Amino acid sequence: MDFDHIVVGAGISGLGAAYFAARAGHPSLVLERSDRIGGCINSHRFTTCSDFWTEAGSHTGFNSYGTLLSILEDIGQMPRLTAKEEAPYQLWRGGQLAKITSALHPLEAAISLPRLFTTPKAGASVSEYYGRGLGRRNYRDLLSPAFQALICQPADDFPAELLFRRKPRRKDVLRKFTMPTGLSEIPAALARQTDIEVRTEQEVIAVARDGQGFRVRLGDDEELGCNYLTLAVSPEIVARLLPDDLPAAKAAVGTVGMAEIDTLLLAFRSADLDLPRLAGLISVDDAFYSAVSRDYLADPQYRGFAFHFRPGALDAGTQLTAACRALGADPIKVVEIAHVANRLPALRKGHQIVVDQLDADLAGGRLAVTGNWFYGVSLEDSLTRSRQEHARLFEAGAKTH
Ligand SMILES: Cc1cc2nc3c(=O)[nH]c(=O)nc-3n(C[C@H](O)[C@H](O)[C@H](O)COP(=O)(O)OP(=O)(O)OC[C@H]3O[C@@H](n4cnc5c(N)ncnc54)[C@H](O)[C@@H]3O)c2cc1C
Repeated sequence: MDFDHIVVGAGISGLGAAYFAARAGHPSLVLERSDRIGGCINSHRFTTCSDFWTEAGSHTGFNSYGTLLSILEDIGQMPRLTAKEEAPYQLWRGGQLAKITSALHPLEAAISLPRLFTTPKAGASVSEYYGRGLGRRNYRDLLSPAFQALICQPADDFPAELLFRRKPRRKDVLRKFTMPTGLSEIPAALARQTDIEVRTEQEVIAVARDGQGFRVRLGDDEELGCNYLTLAVSPEIVARLLPDDLPAAKAAVGTVGMAEIDTLLLAFRSADLDLPRLAGLISVDDAFYSAVSRDYLADPQYRGFAFHFRPGALDAGTQLTAACRALGADPIKVVEIAHVANRLPALRKGHQIVVDQLDADLAGGRLAVTGNWFYGVSLEDSLTRSRQEHARLFEAGAKTH
């Protein structure tokens, strides 16, 4: 075989998979379609702003991210963990900034709260679970916008158990962290590890079995063989790439939708913005779900923001006007603009049936599937799946397919 282990996709799931495999003695080749690694981790550098960056996607790691932290420890990155300075989130509602607490109905919350501890989370949607647990008006006015800001898509039908998973916190680690030049340091550090090779601009378009291993076809028709294969891409691409002898898994995974997000990145000179420091905006009724600021790591010259818009809601010019309105800024003062297309899985109630079907078909084989659509969409959820898949592949001993 050309390679022992090939991974398709160089997001955190794929690079995590390569890391676990390499540590288990299986050198790994990671094939990435785009010209950069990291996927949803994308610390965007503004070219005209002397190395100033803003996160276009993932922006925060937490001390509850045990798998991520154990990897960072192992690859010597813990000293790079950098505290995020506290700043408030604000609501953007009816064209005005407002405090989060202004949307809270305290009496309703107090009456409803006991139900939060008695309502089962499993099998419930976000609106069912939190609407019951904090009251319908609290859900409508505060939680629904806050959750959709968090996952950059309508959150009502998302499975409640996949929105937040309880994970133990490490008291010896910063509660919330970034890295000095952004979270993109993490995929970059993983890609530098011994026994991990990453090739960018390599789109995998088909996968076929080859004895107990696999053949992977690239966009330029080159073919590579491997003993073990990991697919670390979004569900619709997994559905396309799964070998034809797994029709039930292909069909099940093909039902999982994706949410498209139009992200607008803006950099301003700090002196040109008359806006108190803020963590970000939760939009209640505008065309964007949320905005995330770079204020958590103050820069002497610039301030940056990522506005996450509903797909196709506004054209580029109107997006800029809407974002500047929310920041109270004059569009003429924007130093640099960038656009990024982000995507996240749009999980729905009953998602576990999809995962169970896939896992049943993968059992006992040398094919792994990972991503941000198994335990939830966070970095830790993605790495949890990668770790479990690689324990299955490399520790349990693979057999036939
Ligand atoms: C705006 C935003 C904010 C977020 N904020 C946070 C946060 O603060 N904290 C947190 O924990 N999580 C956050 N997340 C979620 C988290 O960043 C993602 O869920 C996670 O990074 C996904 O990693 P992944 O590897 O599963 O997928 P991706 O990052 O999507 O990576 C998949 C990779 O596969 C590549 N690929 C696709 N098809 C092919 C192919 N055919 N051949 C080769 N390569 C292919 C893609 O180009 C991509 O690089 C955020 C996400 C977004 C979008």
